[in-house]
Amino acid sequence: MFDKVLIANRGEIALRIQRACKEMGIRTVAVHSTADEDAMHVRLADEAVCIGPPAAKDSYLNVSAILSAATISNADAIHPGYGFLSENAQFAQMVEEHDFVFIGPSPEHIRLMGDKIAAKDAVMKAGIPVVPGSDGGVEEVVDAKRIAKEIGYPVIIKASAGGGGRGMKVAQSEAEIEIAFTTARSEAGSIFGNPEVYIEKFLTRPRHIEIQVLADNHGNVVHLGERDCSLQRRHQKVLEEAPSPALNKAERDEIGEIASEAVKKIGYRSAGTIEFLYEDGKFYFIEMNTRLQVEHPVTEMITGIDLVREMVRIASGAPLGYVQDDIKFSGHAIECRINAEDPETFMPCPGKIGIYHAPGGLGVRVDSGLYSGYSVPPHYDSMIAKLIVHGTNRNECLMRLRRALSEYVIDGLKTTIPLHQRLAVDPDIINGDYDIHWLEKFMDRE
Ligand code: ADP
Repeated sequence: MFDKVLIANRGEIALRIQRACKEMGIRTVAVHSTADEDAMHVRLADEAVCIGPPAAKDSYLNVSAILSAATISNADAIHPGYGFLSENAQFAQMVEEHDFVFIGPSPEHIRLMGDKIAAKDAVMKAGIPVVPGSDGGVEEVVDAKRIAKEIGYPVIIKASAGGGGRGMKVAQSEAEIEIAFTTARSEAGSIFGNPEVYIEKFLTRPRHIEIQVLADNHGNVVHLGERDCSLQRRHQKVLEEAPSPALNKAERDEIGEIASEAVKKIGYRSAGTIEFLYEDGKFYFIEMNTRLQVEHPVTEMITGIDLVREMVRIASGAPLGYVQDDIKFSGHAIECRINAEDPETFMPCPGKIGIYHAPGGLGVRVDSGLYSGYSVPPHYDSMIAKLIVHGTNRNECLMRLRRALSEYVIDGLKTTIPLHQRLAVDPDIINGDYDIHWLEKFMDRE
């Protein structure tokens, strides 16, 4: 096992990884920008190294500074968290070339899944159902028109190198395809540095359901069930739950089995998530995330498995040590992403926190680096906390969520807590009756 792990991230996820390492007896190294000198992930780490000025490109994305920090602190391994360099195949490769262990999948698998066209092709060959669409990239408007007609409108044009919910354009009819296609291509080029796009059928009322998998270096693979992440704004997740209110046990077992088999065939290792859209009882693959997800705690709460610990164990070469039948699902969990944003306009609201009081009690977990007097810097993502609640069933979980949200005090800035309070009492949410477009309609209605 490793003696020391460097965590190439910040905020709640850096803290989350530190916690798992400490419980495994592993020393931790935090890296931070000058804007994060007082951050909790720096305060609680065994060692901390400043890697640059506030802008992420000069610090948390600065590969040579991170590798230097790992060298001077004598770390054995690097965990990238999510975002930043977590899905950068070149970073993973450089980590290995510098004789550190990358706590995640191989650079080849990161590269494969980062190219969404190649990923779709690879998983399709491994037996996973995909959204009907173009066979690879589309370069010309005439081809886009022909393909869209074949699969039927509406269609969605997506960037092959896309991510973070960006670079997607919907065309409702032939009248819209030309403009949607050309804007999608030019945006893909400017945002992701690669203009390649592909076309898919746009599903009108799907749920977003994703399967968590764990695979070791010895050919053992298990799935940890699904997460329902249908509550989204601008293709970004806002609230997640496990299990999905839409699936029954037979469906769960079947899609979990398909996901595990595919992961085994592809030869993937570490934690990974296979994302699907689910409509009319059918699953359609959209992408695979080759990292720890923001919403991983809901899976931990219903399985009792510490996903970060498992990632660290797998990276050290240890076998999983359990099989699918050993995984037991218990109760229900919901996660609310709490952002420093205006709950009406979603404008980021960084600033200094006055009084801070986090909720507690049975079945309540808060993953956050906040404290009284902390200043949320303006340079990074606006998510400042995750509130995760667990109950023996969905109803108990929702009651507990309302109770926990009512206890949460974050003075001094605007947060999305009021939005979550409205969601937690909405009849559609109570009935589990929502799809990926529900939240935007709800916001328009308000
Ligand atoms: P990203 O990598 O940017 O997150 P994804 O392919 O995972 O992109 O898609 C993100 C979200 O976009 C999905 O959760 C869903 O809400 C929407 N989306 C993607 N593909 C489709 C589709 N074919 N039909 C309808 N919605 C889609």
